[in-house]
Amino acid sequence: MGWNIYFEIKIGIKMNEKKYITNNYEETQKLGASFADKLNSGAIVLLFGDLGSGKTTFVKGILENFKYQYDVTSPTFSLINEYEANKRVVHSDCYREKNVDRWISLGITEYFNDSSIVIIEWPEILNEIIPNGAIKIQFNHVENDKREIKFL
Ligand code: ADP
Ligand code: MG
Repeated sequence: MGWNIYFEIKIGIKMNEKKYITNNYEETQKLGASFADKLNSGAIVLLFGDLGSGKTTFVKGILENFKYQYDVTSPTFSLINEYEANKRVVHSDCYREKNVDRWISLGITEYFNDSSIVIIEWPEILNEIIPNGAIKIQFNHVENDKREIKFL
């Protein structure tokens, strides 16, 4: 079953092919949680979009689905957050660190090659080292609490 049909049935979010509109952060979190059902170990997920467009909120939904019980915070400063939930999730954010060598020394390429699900916000600078086949999602701030989330 395609993601689009699946999401519509499961959470009733309006869909237009691979594009979703959410009207509050709870809906974005729910979309993340439903998306997580489709995520296999080893997947790489790239989240594009401006500050405040909902990327981290979406990741909170993914971790909720994997039964992570504690707070999920933005890796803006920590750079890499690792979660041992029902699946192992690595969440990173390249907004503040644009030096690829630094990411390599933090072990990002090792995470690409193990069974972790790796989720990256602001992934553009890692373009050269991210393996093919990553899932790409674009977040856009439409207005107020409305966000557009597109599976590219
Ligand atoms: P990013 O990681 O893209 O910078 P965050 O998820 O950290 O964005 O922040 C999104 C902010 O916008 C949060 O404060 C959230 O409560 C708010 N918000 C309002 N409406 C939405 C929505 N529809 N989806 C996601 N976040 C929303
Ligand atoms: Mg964020």
